[in-house]
Amino acid sequence: MKIVVLPGDGIGPETMAVAVDVLQAADARFDLGLRLEHDVAGHESLKRHGATVTPALLEKVRQADGLMLGPMATYDFKDESRGEINPSKFFRKCLDLHANIRPARTYPGMQARLGEFDLVVVRENTEGFYADRNIESGSSEMLITPDVVVSLRRITRPCCERIARSAFELAMTRRKHVTIVHKANVLKLGDGMFIDVCREVGREFPEVGIDEVIVDAMMAHVVRAPQRYDVIVTTNMFGDILSDLTAELSGSLGLGGSLNAGRDHAMGQAAHGSAPDIAGRNVANPISLILSAAMLLNWHGQRKGLPRYAEAAAAIEAVIAQTIQAGECTRDVGGTLGTREAGQAFVRRLAALRG
Ligand code: NAD
Repeated sequence: MKIVVLPGDGIGPETMAVAVDVLQAADARFDLGLRLEHDVAGHESLKRHGATVTPALLEKVRQADGLMLGPMATYDFKDESRGEINPSKFFRKCLDLHANIRPARTYPGMQARLGEFDLVVVRENTEGFYADRNIESGSSEMLITPDVVVSLRRITRPCCERIARSAFELAMTRRKHVTIVHKANVLKLGDGMFIDVCREVGREFPEVGIDEVIVDAMMAHVVRAPQRYDVIVTTNMFGDILSDLTAELSGSLGLGGSLNAGRDHAMGQAAHGSAPDIAGRNVANPISLILSAAMLLNWHGQRKGLPRYAEAAAAIEAVIAQTIQAGECTRDVGGTLGTREAGQAFVRRLAALRG
C-alpha cells in the first residue's frame, strides 16, 4: 500500500511524526508492505513551490492507495490566485471524497462525564454550505455590494444518496441505527430532500432503525445522552460542527479520528485543526491522526480484500484504548506525557503484540 504523507501546519509535523511511527510499527507487526512517500502541503509547500498544493502533488496522490493529510492552517489561506488553496478542500474535491467518517467514543480509564458512548458522525463532504467547493469553479460566496454577501448552499440528490448509503452500510456493521440530523423546518427544500433521500435509502436496510433530529435540538440531545446514538448522518456544515462537539465530549478534540472516503481514494486526516496555540510544544494529542491512519488501513483492506489491514487497524485501536487506560497519553486526556513520549509508548505496545 502506497501512502502519501503530508505533515501539514502547526501541530501537524509533531503529530504526523507519531502517526508515521505507528504506521511503521503496524507494518512490521502485520507485514502490510507499506510504502510511505513524504511530501509537503500548506505553508511549507507555499514557501517551496509558491502554492499550498500543486498539480504534481495531486497526481502523486492519485497514483497512491491513500493519503495522510496533517492539519492545515486553512484560515491563513485567503487568496487562491496567490497559491493559497485550502489543501483539505482541494483533495476532498479533486478526489471526490464524499464521505467524512468521524467516530467519537469514550475509553475505559478516562473520566466519562456524560457516561460511556460510541458513535460515528457521517458527514457529507463535497457540497452543502462550503462555498469554495460546491461549484465547479470559483466560489459560491459573493460580495454583491460592499455591504452584502450571498453564500450559496448546494444540496443534490446523488450526493444525498451516496452519503446516506455510506451511513446505512456503516450502521449494518455496528448497532444498526441511523439518526438523520437536519434543519428541514427552515431549509425545507434542501434538507427536505436530504431527509427524503435518507428515508428512501433506509428502506433498503430494513434491519436498521431510523430517527430524525433537528440540528439545533441535536446539540442538546447529544450533550445530554450521547449513548443514544450509533450512526449520525448529516449535511456538510452540520457534520463539521457536530463532529467537533462529539470528539470533545468523548474527552478531547485530539481524539477525533477522521477518514475522507470516496469510491477510489481515501484520506486520513485529524478532525481538528493546526492548533497554533499549542504548536511546537510537544503537548498535542497524536491519537486523532493515529486513529485516522488506522481507518485508512481498514478502508484499504476492505477494498482490496486484505484482512491483515483490518487486523492492523483493530490492533491500533486496541492500543489506543490500552495507552489511555494506562495513563500513557497527553495531558488533554488526563496523562502527563508529551506528544513524542505518548507516541513511543504507543509503538512499544504495538511492537509488544508480537509476543
Ligand atoms: P483547532 O481545531 O486547531 O483547535 C481548537 C482547540 O482544540 C485548540 O484549543 C487546540 O489547542 C485544541 N486542539 C486541537 N487539536 C488538538 C490536539 N491534537 N491535541 C490537543 N488539543 C488540540 O481549531 P482553530 O484553533 O480554530 O483553528 C486553527 C487553524 O486550523 C485555522 O487555520 C483553521 O482554519 C484550521 N483548521 C483546519 C482543519 C483541517 O485541516 N482539517 C480543521 C479545522 C480547523
